[in-house]
Amino acid sequence: MMNIVIFGAPGAGKGTQSDFIVERFGLTHISTGDLLRKEIADHTALGQRIKSIMDAGHLVSDDIVVEMIDKAIAADTKGILFDGFPRNVAQAETLDKLLAKHGRSITCMVQLEVPREELVRRILERAKISGRTDDNEQTVKGRLEEYDNKTKPVADYYAKQGKRLVINGLGDIKEIASNIISQIEKL
Ligand code: AMP
Repeated sequence: MMNIVIFGAPGAGKGTQSDFIVERFGLTHISTGDLLRKEIADHTALGQRIKSIMDAGHLVSDDIVVEMIDKAIAADTKGILFDGFPRNVAQAETLDKLLAKHGRSITCMVQLEVPREELVRRILERAKISGRTDDNEQTVKGRLEEYDNKTKPVADYYAKQGKRLVINGLGDIKEIASNIISQIEKL
């Protein structure tokens, strides 16, 4: 059973490429960002607690997302594509432990590389249609700072385990997808 992490800065195309990967390998797509946005849309107590944190572009606390991931792993039988998780090294370590409880492990991490100016351009373009309150110029700065300070080291975590696949995230969406898929198939 495959368990894959899709990794990259905000705007790198993780959501877009996730659709191709889950379709090809029959995985369950778990996006912590989507799960958190659903809590806000449903006006749950948790949603009310996290809205201002997400609107500021900051990461929510590890406990919240770890609990979501724990439940998702327990419920899954197909293999999971993790999108937006892990966002820091502590989350990456926890993910390994949670998977190990079920005799599972990460197969590989797909890192989408996109230059900074292009990330900002894409997010501001997406803002026109996404309806996401964190897709704006002010919040983008905060999200990219969180990425640089906390999330980037996750790439080394998987590189040290020999599980990192680096993919050029610039260019035609379908070409990027077929590049990712052929790299995974080679494993
Ligand atoms: P995303 O949809 O992945 O861009 O996530 C949107 C927002 O949700 C982020 O800016 C964070 O506030 C929050 N978030 C998503 N995933 C995580 C995570 N693994 N850890 C902490 N916060 C997260």
